[in-house]
Amino acid sequence: MDIQISIIVSVYNEEEVLNAFHKEASSVLNKLGKSYELIFVNDGSVDSSRELLSEIAKADKNTKVINFSRNYGHEAAMLAGLDHSKGNCVICMDADLQHPPAVIPQMVEKYESGVDILTMVRTKNPDSGFFKSITSKLFYSILNRISGQKFDINASDFFLVSKRVAKILRTEFREQSRFLRGFIQIVGFNRGYLEYEANQRLAGESKYSIRNLFKYSFNVMLTFSNLPLRLGVSLGILVGLFGLFIAVWEIIMKFKGLTPPGYTTIVVLISFLFAMMFVLIGVIGEYIAVLFKEVKARPIYIIEEILNEDS
Ligand code: UDP
Ligand code: MG
Repeated sequence: MDIQISIIVSVYNEEEVLNAFHKEASSVLNKLGKSYELIFVNDGSVDSSRELLSEIAKADKNTKVINFSRNYGHEAAMLAGLDHSKGNCVICMDADLQHPPAVIPQMVEKYESGVDILTMVRTKNPDSGFFKSITSKLFYSILNRISGQKFDINASDFFLVSKRVAKILRTEFREQSRFLRGFIQIVGFNRGYLEYEANQRLAGESKYSIRNLFKYSFNVMLTFSNLPLRLGVSLGILVGLFGLFIAVWEIIMKFKGLTPPGYTTIVVLISFLFAMMFVLIGVIGEYIAVLFKEVKARPIYIIEEILNEDS
């Protein structure tokens, strides 16, 4: 039978919310009366999420569970979900009920009216504190400036894509450094928006530490922009002009008979130039690291077991 809706849910240590999520999502989906599959991607949870998911899958044939061999991260989990989704439209969401299943019918309606990519726009975001919202705004404004793209400030990992877009994402976007919410914004097709009110995380803690978010953002900027690599040219010109100014200054001093020892100038110039060089070598190193990861082309995730694969 044709599956109409696929829902992909990434799960990492979500034992406190899984049953509540499954209950709410299935009741919404059953009321909708369309065929669906609920794909839980268990990203190497170390709590009882795996056991809970097995029980859910045993009782509900619409639920599929993909168990990873270890923790590979949220991006890898979403890709695995895409790889195994069969629906005419595919929805990605979090397990913690921050993304309310109640809006699924509205999302599907948008899809049926011809939207290929539906971005869900948060109107209220109770969980993100001052720091998180400031840094997130800063991240997108830097990213937009250096990548020449226009990424949505409120883009999140809550979205719907049609089957044809899902296919493109899983076949053409198998990059190692992943940013799915960015990929969906550069493939084109008909795009739509739908507002929703984000809920508070039902229970448990956010899995993204500040450090992780920083690493992730930095990587996204590297993969979407070559600008840092070109920094060298502009910095070189700037430093060159500065050097010229110093040289002229020294010559004037010499003719005035005020020949200073020149020691300060040399120290300042040398440290300045070395600092520039190290920064640039560092930037090049970061790009090589990204390239190295791509070239190795290791698996983005490894599956240990799938439950209810073709039910
Ligand atoms: N998640 C995952 N793998 C990870 C970290 C998180 O699959 O390594 C899942 C997590 O279970 C949740 C979603 O990704 O369903 C988003 O994570 P979280 O809610 O912690 O992030 P936040 O909403 O705070 O940005
Ligand atoms: Mg969350």
